Amino acid sequence: MLSVKISFAPHVGHQTPLVELVETPSTVEISLEDGAHTFQSEDVDVGKFTAFGNRRLLGRLVFGYVYDEARHTVTVCGTDFASADGLRLVTFPAGTEECCYHRAAGSAGFLADDLMGNRHWNCRTPLTVGVDEVLRGMARAANESLIAALKSLPGLIVRVRTTPPEISPDDYQKLLVVYRDGVFQGLYEPGAELGPQDEVVTIESVWGGTVHFSVGEAFANVIGSTNDPRIAGKTWINLWADQFGVYPNICTSYHFNGFNCGTSFVGGHIITGTVAHTMPKGSDSVYIMPICQPHNHNDNVFMEALEYQDGIWLKDYLGGP
Ligand SMILES: [Zn+2]
Ligand SMILES: [Zn+2]
Repeated sequence: MLSVKISFAPHVGHQTPLVELVETPSTVEISLEDGAHTFQSEDVDVGKFTAFGNRRLLGRLVFGYVYDEARHTVTVCGTDFASADGLRLVTFPAGTEECCYHRAAGSAGFLADDLMGNRHWNCRTPLTVGVDEVLRGMARAANESLIAALKSLPGLIVRVRTTPPEISPDDYQKLLVVYRDGVFQGLYEPGAELGPQDEVVTIESVWGGTVHFSVGEAFANVIGSTNDPRIAGKTWINLWADQFGVYPNICTSYHFNGFNCGTSFVGGHIITGTVAHTMPKGSDSVYIMPICQPHNHNDNVFMEALEYQDGIWLKDYLGGP
């Protein structure tokens, strides 16, 4: 089991004719169990109904996660990832089961069901103007605190589900690959004739999100991945740069164990641990980190996450049928 404590609060107090949201931060203890689960926190006070004898408005955090204890890896949704597993703050007047759902990702859920489905406790009414925005802000703050708290745990690998960064249609095309009758053909060529035996694999189908490693986490090459034409074509490193907003100027494992690093970099396919090996197509634990060419071509040494802690997580290595 894994435990962290997080605090979250509305950034501002908020008062409407029906309800008053309090600025006091709430602290909840979060315990994650091995496997795929939905976490539900204990209830905390988020406000009171001033017109109804100060009846308490309670809230609890709910989110889906996967914790792989053996691989010391936890996977949660990013704050803008509009998934049913994403974190939501569930609010309800004390003593009732009338719940509103304030989802961290603004585009997630169904407003009529989430915020207007009860007999009494509803947001988006003339008496609750702005309440949902404040409570959704709390949910977003809680998710950010959760991710930060997980990243601060030594030795834990934290994967955050996201959508790929915005890339130009041109770069997007360069990330498409073609399979014919299940056999990898290479990069998609604009204008190429494709038939029913062909399958085009998009970046969305292999992209899982981001991964965060502790300083000194050991990793090694995925043997065989240098055949991926997207490596030589620099497309993976550009994607890494688009994701993290900086172009790498040093090898992640710079001079580790006296290794003589190069000055040009690729987005290398890596796995955690100290031994390079092949990975089956479809593996969900291959990552992209910026490494130098000599490191990328050397399967006899392992590396450590020293200069960069964040990489791209591929949920479906090589993808394809
Ligand atoms: Zn990070
Ligand atoms: Zn290097």
